[in-house]
Amino acid sequence: MAKLSVRDLNVTGKRVLMRVDYNVPMEDNGGVMVINDATRIKETLPTLNLLISKGARVVLMAHLGRPDGKREPSMSLRPVSEALSEMLGKPVSFSEETMGEKAEGAVAGLKDGDVLLLENVRFHAEEEDNDPVFAARLARLADLYVNDAFGAAHRAHASTCGVARIVRAWGGSCAAGLLMERELKFLGDELDQPARPFVVILGGAKVSDKIRVIDRLLDRADTVLIGGAMAYTFKLAHGGKTGKSLVEKDHTGTALAAEAKAKQRHVNFHLPTDTVIATPVATGKLNKKGKPVYDLQNPRVISGDIPDDSEGFDIGPATAAAYAAVIAGAKTILWNGPMGMFEDPRFAEGTHVVAKAVAEATQKNGTKSIIGGGDSVKAINKAGLGSQVTFASTGGGASLEFLEGTPLPGVVCLDNCQ
Ligand code: AMP
Repeated sequence: MAKLSVRDLNVTGKRVLMRVDYNVPMEDNGGVMVINDATRIKETLPTLNLLISKGARVVLMAHLGRPDGKREPSMSLRPVSEALSEMLGKPVSFSEETMGEKAEGAVAGLKDGDVLLLENVRFHAEEEDNDPVFAARLARLADLYVNDAFGAAHRAHASTCGVARIVRAWGGSCAAGLLMERELKFLGDELDQPARPFVVILGGAKVSDKIRVIDRLLDRADTVLIGGAMAYTFKLAHGGKTGKSLVEKDHTGTALAAEAKAKQRHVNFHLPTDTVIATPVATGKLNKKGKPVYDLQNPRVISGDIPDDSEGFDIGPATAAAYAAVIAGAKTILWNGPMGMFEDPRFAEGTHVVAKAVAEATQKNGTKSIIGGGDSVKAINKAGLGSQVTFASTGGGASLEFLEGTPLPGVVCLDNCQ
């Protein structure tokens, strides 16, 4: 069911309480918190500019980090209000209180077109508990509710869904922001009726994390390309040797069931034919988390079994070339999860080749390419190709749950279109 859009709201002179995803990476620079990557703030500008141009009184709420219900100065949203003000080219006021008398006073002082950011909702434990009294105190700041925080929509928290129920009960509408709308369009509608061939590329660490997505997409895909560490669980299921590779021994049955479903539905199901391995050698050092650090020695390409002392870290060049050829013939692509441990340049080539192929198909053939969040978006941005795909989701966990077909509380709570 399509959701009410912020475009359909009559917002002039109204207090619009909008949940945004401003959980931006920050760094302590000599006692001053500095924003490392402002992408998430930038993503909200279209909705904000629309609301400002229509004369709404915009009240923003967001979380930052995990303060566990306590006021934690390093997780204050104040630096975000400053960055947002610069991006919008107009003042953005900041309320040190998330709700309560002072916050209500600040909201009462807003004029049409003004913007106010509330302090981190997670400074209150009631936020994550979806406490109805806390949600009601937030709702006192609103005539209308908008959710533009797709990245937090899988959480049933007070600011992502509890407050919406109260705003609606008090007679206000609850709508999707423009970013939320785009996420629902590309991860939802566009994949329900994809132009064919529809090629799904799945990678990442674990089969168990992605199996519900694989299962659901096997109902619609023409081809599935598997990469990342999860490919080794498939290899193990076929009786192959995987050495020290990251495998899930208790999920070999899951892997075989996915392949059987693919066969039954005539979906082309591709597994890597070669792989980049290395030999981990203990350095005797511990990392920040107290775990032993290994030196990954002698990176090399193999096909067939992985030696007992070695570990697989990337798809090999033959696999990457074969996957790129399939991608070149696609009309719709969904990609979730890197092809290897791309954070290390020695194991990034497979992911890079796939990223390039996806970007090229989009640019040359008009293929619709949808990057389903998390590390695959990081990888495509790292390759400098983020602007050359059709859509890159801003959600990590939220994208995965949405692709699995799990209803997201932050979406369910919005009004349906009439
Ligand atoms: P996911 O969140 O499941 O998409 O997994 C992404 C993570 O999987 C990234 O941090 C990758 O470094 C990691 N990864 C992918 N392939 C491998 C591999 N072959 N060995 C170890 N880690 C991998």
